[in-house]
Amino acid sequence: MSDSSTTNEKYAPSAEFAAQANATADLYTEADADRLAFWDKQARRLTWDQEWSEVLDWSQAPVSKWFVGGKLNVAANCLDRHVDEGNGDRVAVHWIGEPKSDARDITYSELLADVSRAANYLSSLGLVAGDRVAIYMPMIPEAYIAMLACARLGLTHSVVFAGFSSAALRSRVDDAEAKVVITSDGQFRRGKPAPLKAAVDEALGSDLPNVDGPAASVHKVLVVRRTGIDVDWDAERDVWWDEVVPEQPDTHTPESFDAEHPLFLLYTSGTTGKPKGIVHSSGGYLVQASYTHYNVFDLKPESDVYWCTADIGWVTGHTYGVYGPLSNGSTCVVYEGTPNSPDEHRHFEIIEDKKVSIYYSAPTLVRTFMKWGHEIPAAHDLSSIRVLGSVGEPINPEAWRWYRDNIGGGKAPIVDTWWQTETGAIMVSPLPGVTETKPGSAMRPLPGISMDVVDNDGETVASEEQGLLVGTEPWPAMLRGIWGDMDRYRDTYWSHFAEQGYYFAGDGAKWDSDGALWVLGRVDDVMNISGHRISTSEVESALVGHEAVAEAAVVGASDEQTGQAIVAYVILREHHIGSGDELVDALKAAVSKEISPIAKPRDITVVPELPKTRSGKIMRRLLRDLAEGREVGDTSTLSDPSIMEALQKK
Ligand code: ATP
Ligand code: MG
Repeated sequence: MSDSSTTNEKYAPSAEFAAQANATADLYTEADADRLAFWDKQARRLTWDQEWSEVLDWSQAPVSKWFVGGKLNVAANCLDRHVDEGNGDRVAVHWIGEPKSDARDITYSELLADVSRAANYLSSLGLVAGDRVAIYMPMIPEAYIAMLACARLGLTHSVVFAGFSSAALRSRVDDAEAKVVITSDGQFRRGKPAPLKAAVDEALGSDLPNVDGPAASVHKVLVVRRTGIDVDWDAERDVWWDEVVPEQPDTHTPESFDAEHPLFLLYTSGTTGKPKGIVHSSGGYLVQASYTHYNVFDLKPESDVYWCTADIGWVTGHTYGVYGPLSNGSTCVVYEGTPNSPDEHRHFEIIEDKKVSIYYSAPTLVRTFMKWGHEIPAAHDLSSIRVLGSVGEPINPEAWRWYRDNIGGGKAPIVDTWWQTETGAIMVSPLPGVTETKPGSAMRPLPGISMDVVDNDGETVASEEQGLLVGTEPWPAMLRGIWGDMDRYRDTYWSHFAEQGYYFAGDGAKWDSDGALWVLGRVDDVMNISGHRISTSEVESALVGHEAVAEAAVVGASDEQTGQAIVAYVILREHHIGSGDELVDALKAAVSKEISPIAKPRDITVVPELPKTRSGKIMRRLLRDLAEGREVGDTSTLSDPSIMEALQKK
């Protein structure tokens, strides 16, 4: 089922933007002519200590090896290279703390010195390449320093979002058998210090349910002093960062690691179930992170100020917060707090103050901005913005237009980037200045990336038909496995289309008649209403298209008449007009008109909040439990469990 009014709305790149863009249409031509030669060329954007003998070894499929035999140091590519090229005085990080007076600019030279000190300290602990280090930190400079120090030493980091519970931290520490945990005493949240180390103490102890004694693998907990709050202390295990790191030498000679050396583990968001520990490589990962960051965001290292709002706890915070931008010598904004501390103006003040030119965020935040109202961004000079990015969920066309008009000055190109923790880097996205865009579509696979939309037999579906999104060829930043569970790796991603050797992404999608790709949400979320397959994202977009609605979540609940019926939960905009039954009827009519009478929701409930993962994605499986009157499932990665309790009462 498709909505032709949105699929036909097109925005061509401006001639002005195209004239200065990093990417040109030649990238597509080159990659189509010889995919591996294309990646070979992209790999040469980085500094390697030893050249590879082969671009891709796929003989052990589905485990790939890229740039076989090549050696590099990821941190040296992100730091030393820029200093060596005379750019040491460029700001690498404009760090902005949550308290307004708290900010610090860190140049590439300073960051290199900080990372060298931290690396010297970590190696003094006897850690060796391949050991795992858990990082459980807020968005403070030491979090970046810790990640890069690990990369420099070949220590495989596992960043755990600092909003996660001690139980979530413990399960990730145990799964990875981390030897060290790096954390902070506390973190600022909405103007107040909140404890963080206390959660580490609880995680590593023996008082949690489902743990068997204290965490056996952990020798040391390195603690950054951030808030100054009181903490419990284990004199054998715990050490203050400021007592051991600053005194270390500020130089460190980087070692070369194999292209396949595991750079990090990262657990998926858990939107669909138990998180999986995704393993990423060094060489292939950095090649694609760097290439995509440069071309998709049109990065000009000398003049751009780039802000990726994702927390380091998510893959976006890794690839487009740290490795992509730093490998390209970018100047990055790193902000510690929430968008509304102390008030809703904060993000826009930062954009205005730092003259942010590239802003990469998520639909959930755009919809939150919509809910707050356009007067808030309008009160700021956002004219520095020249590229906008979106990731994490399908972006509703209404939110897309709002983003472009209210943040992008009505002209900034929007790159709607589809990718996953598993893909490591962007796979599907327009190239600004090259690709025409349509609100709500991620447009087309990037040069060098091969994807398709297929039916259950692996055959390409006709345009406008729903199918399954698959990767048809391996790509450099692809996951190398699930940590400790290669069977689950094969089973989850490769068993669906074993015969064709396709990677199954778990998302539903369609090609439209112009060859643009529309991601329709997770396959598990596709609804079947009287035999019609209707995607949650299309119905949600129709609801958000109504002036009263800021956010919507839609699920299919079993229904005697229609098999499944559509149940919608909506959050209203701050200044909307109308309410009650009248509004519900108007919303039903809007969906009916926009998509089809079949897509009309059976029930619409107005709610104050929706259940979301910590990364801001709607957890539809919980709403499905609710709509079908079941006990709600695993809520461990939910940002605020009390939301489900409130919804259940309703
Ligand atoms: P889990 O795999 O544990 O259920 P998750 O899939 O939410 O969690 P991520 O890897 O963070 O974990 O998210 C990737 C998913 O996010 C994609 O599979 C897709 O469903 C969605 N997504 C990301 N970017 C986009 C986009 N631009 N358009 C549509 N969907 C997107
Ligand atoms: Mg997933």
